Amino acid sequence: MSEKKNPFCYEKQSVYEKAGRETVAAAYEYAKGYVRFLDAAKTEREAVAESIRLAEAAGYRPYAFGDPMKAGDKFYYNNRGKNVFLFRIGTEPINNGIRITGAHIDSPRLDLKQVPLYEERDLCFLKTHYYGGIRKYQWLAMPLALHGVVVKQNGETVSITVGEKEDDPVLYITDLLPHLAAGENAKTVSAAFQGEKLNVLVGSRPCEGEEKDAVKLAVLNHLHETYGITEEDLQSAELCVVPAGRARDVGFDRSMICAYGHDDRVCAYPSLTAMIDGDEPVHTTMCILVDKEETGSDGVTGMQSNLFMDLVSEISRALGGNEAAVRANSKCISSDVAATYDPNFDDVFEKRNAAMLGCGIALCKYTGSRGKSGTSDASAELVGWVRRCMNEAGVVWQTCELGKVDIGGGGTIAKYMANHNIDTIDMGVSVLSMHAPYEVIAKVDLYEAYRAFRAFYRF
Ligand code: MN
Ligand code: MN
Repeated sequence: MSEKKNPFCYEKQSVYEKAGRETVAAAYEYAKGYVRFLDAAKTEREAVAESIRLAEAAGYRPYAFGDPMKAGDKFYYNNRGKNVFLFRIGTEPINNGIRITGAHIDSPRLDLKQVPLYEERDLCFLKTHYYGGIRKYQWLAMPLALHGVVVKQNGETVSITVGEKEDDPVLYITDLLPHLAAGENAKTVSAAFQGEKLNVLVGSRPCEGEEKDAVKLAVLNHLHETYGITEEDLQSAELCVVPAGRARDVGFDRSMICAYGHDDRVCAYPSLTAMIDGDEPVHTTMCILVDKEETGSDGVTGMQSNLFMDLVSEISRALGGNEAAVRANSKCISSDVAATYDPNFDDVFEKRNAAMLGCGIALCKYTGSRGKSGTSDASAELVGWVRRCMNEAGVVWQTCELGKVDIGGGGTIAKYMANHNIDTIDMGVSVLSMHAPYEVIAKVDLYEAYRAFRAFYRF
């Protein structure tokens, strides 16, 4: 552990410098549970199922609108299997507000189109439509898996996961050989890699005795034999193409983790476990794991749905509070990822204000783009409050913004929470290669997020 050189100067320090060896060891241990969560939860549906499994084991039970509640009660509300709210009733009067964390559990990927299956020159493919912001070339020439559900006409839901078990086949999107790529290489990246070309290869062996579309027929036969589904069933389905394979340690020192979907499971998991592991809370606490952030937080399972307000209203009423007072006195951490400074792309970052790997949880006063457009911009008072909360708990934290001014931008669910008259700030783990099929985070940053959320819930 090292001390600051001059008490009047601010100097960013890493968790390694500031927190010491025991914290680092605890971070490595904590990361094991996170890796299990990542492997079990590649889609929002899987993340909800896994989160509920962990919550139930910790004594949380399903909430239905109108249920009575009292201090000490632990509930979860499962929203259509794609978004879940956990809440725990505190001893403090409900009018003193709720401590809320919100993370998202959807990640960029390739969704199958409604009519996906086709055959071209004896090769069978699935058409996709990408979900969220991706650099398209990153998804070519790598093993891919299929995760999701098909709802049959009779209402039965069939779950499909292909490409994750050791002996499973995987899916694949082809790329052009360098020998023939001179023309493509001369194009801009966005012209060379087009969404409509992200077609997933799923078969090449024809069905015996058939002449037309024999490979496609063989694939349909397989789907019917294995899952009892037909081609029309694929129209009432949500099937997601994601990178195949598991989360892995990165580096000779194993200090980092490479995985699909750190954005935003790297905040969802610590907020969930902080909620579950937390001591008896004074304030009522709520952990939101939400869908659709990557496409703008719209829809019934997104943060802009009225469901959040309905829950706050029901909690207020059941505990004899006033909903407006509850919201006015609540505080929210919008826990989403930040961009880690990457020395290989130095020109897009502003080093004094970028999140550095290993320097703890990253606090983002504002997001947005250009002249801070599209941000709720947390107040100095709120930042001061959070700073005191983090420092008193010994959490290692840093401030950051996404990149250089006018280079780009981004948003989170923060503004939707703030629009409800709830003081909200963005805080999360910073990520290398954000939105790539495999992203990288530091274990010590993950652990500081867990410690930060623990501190916030009880402060
Ligand atoms: Mn995110
Ligand atoms: Mn994202």
